[in-house]
Amino acid sequence: MTDLDRTREATPVPKDWTYAPAPESRDIVRLEDRYGHYVGGEWLEPTETYETISPATEEPLAQVGQATAREVDLAVRSARDAFENGWSEISPSARAKYLFRIARIIQERTREFAVLESLNGGKPIKESRDVDLPLSAAHFFYYAGWADKLEYAFPNQRPKPVGVAGQIIPWNFPLLMLAWKVAPALAAGNTVVLKPAETTPLTALLFCDVVRQAELPPGVVNIVTGDGRVGAEIVKADGVDKIAFTGSTEVGKAIQSELAGSGKRLTLELGGKAANIIFDDAALDQAIEGIVNGIYFNQGHVCCAGSRLLVQESIYEPVVDKLKRRLSTLRVGDPLDKNTDVGAINSRQQLEKIQELVATGQDEGAEIYQPPCRLPEQGYWFVPTVFTNVAQSHRIAQEEIFGPVLSVLTFRTPEEAVEKANNTPFGLSAGIWTEKGSRILWMAERMRAGVVWANTFNRFDPTSPFGGYKESGFGREGGRHGLEPYLTFDGEGRHDA
Ligand code: NDP
Repeated sequence: MTDLDRTREATPVPKDWTYAPAPESRDIVRLEDRYGHYVGGEWLEPTETYETISPATEEPLAQVGQATAREVDLAVRSARDAFENGWSEISPSARAKYLFRIARIIQERTREFAVLESLNGGKPIKESRDVDLPLSAAHFFYYAGWADKLEYAFPNQRPKPVGVAGQIIPWNFPLLMLAWKVAPALAAGNTVVLKPAETTPLTALLFCDVVRQAELPPGVVNIVTGDGRVGAEIVKADGVDKIAFTGSTEVGKAIQSELAGSGKRLTLELGGKAANIIFDDAALDQAIEGIVNGIYFNQGHVCCAGSRLLVQESIYEPVVDKLKRRLSTLRVGDPLDKNTDVGAINSRQQLEKIQELVATGQDEGAEIYQPPCRLPEQGYWFVPTVFTNVAQSHRIAQEEIFGPVLSVLTFRTPEEAVEKANNTPFGLSAGIWTEKGSRILWMAERMRAGVVWANTFNRFDPTSPFGGYKESGFGREGGRHGLEPYLTFDGEGRHDA
């Protein structure tokens, strides 16, 4: 018997090739029992609180403040005071210095933030660690660079800050959405009052500690927590000059009508129903990875998710076969496990919404496929799902499901693909998969979508503007364009947007 034979005998071939658990430790996160609001650089003891949980286990994590009208008012006053008495006057290079500090501290505390994001929001740790956190830091670095170059970004227009920005963010990318909003606002010389989503307040509250560590002057960043009522208070607050909102189209519309005629500025980043279009000359395996990333990344809780797949008819069967095979390899489970691909649904309410829309898909005649998958008993979970045989009129082809659910449709010609892709009330993003550069350009020109990805999907970069058409909202975040909503220009009054 050779040495190799002896080794083989001593190491039996495993019968099961599934991954062993690889959980990230929670020890790095130190949770308080109770959190207040961060106002004027200090913690304000909340009048009312609610419990925030982990959606993967339903385990209570902490008590968090539910801000009252008075607490929102204190936050707005503190932001106004900081704006008028210092922040808008300090040198732009000093503002840049604070933003660089914040960026570096986020980088240093990445693991802590990533674990907390996955714990409170349910997203897989490999996504919070490799996407949310690096991009959040990158946004602060990027806008730090612009802070002392506004005169060059907008030559001959004498850019000035707008004042106090009220910022309302959703639960799908809690820290990243905070970074998208806070970094350009501060770089342009504004102060902010921000409300994180009710279900995911914890990374925004940890961010207050970053602000403290960076020695940002008190009142420049104020964070109040609670449900939608707190958002509504911020929207109507007299001392707020601009509202930046990311969330559902329904709430976006309500905010828009509330603000009509008020003179307050508004940017809305709302829902989407993106088409991922795959032509018969595309590199299929690469496209399948892009489709999977497009819809199952972050459990499909992504406004620009590729939730409709448009497949050229001639390759329909191989695409659907490969997709189903790939789906069966996705690992659904503990968000803190480094091998997890699909984590927990963010809340019971969101789970019910997904279940309801999936049931309508079946009722309307679409064919459902879900790979065999054992879900944890506690918490909120949904199996990655594909619908085939989908008609354009089905609700699952028109409405934002915001879950791990893909609707597959077919097309024959590029013209038909364009028509179907544009046939929704939304216009946030789209994806095109083809080997032909000329076809990419032809298609991109005709897409009513703010972002068009070619042979990739869900790629983000702070230098690139992001935003929608139609019911996906207006205004751009990211890039030089992302500064504009936070600035007034020569000849403009403070309130005329
Ligand atoms: P919402 O639009 O309700 O939430 C977004 C933010 O707005 C949250 O901070 C929310 O607070 C706040 N808010 C709620 N009501 C008001 C109001 N009247 N005035 C001001 N602020 C308010 O989204 P949901 O969380 O209810 O999700 C519902 C659906 O919206 C999802 O299923 C999905 O389709 C879509 N959505 C889209 C997002 C996107 O990125 N485009 C992000 C999130 C959701 P609170 O958390 O307490 O409700």
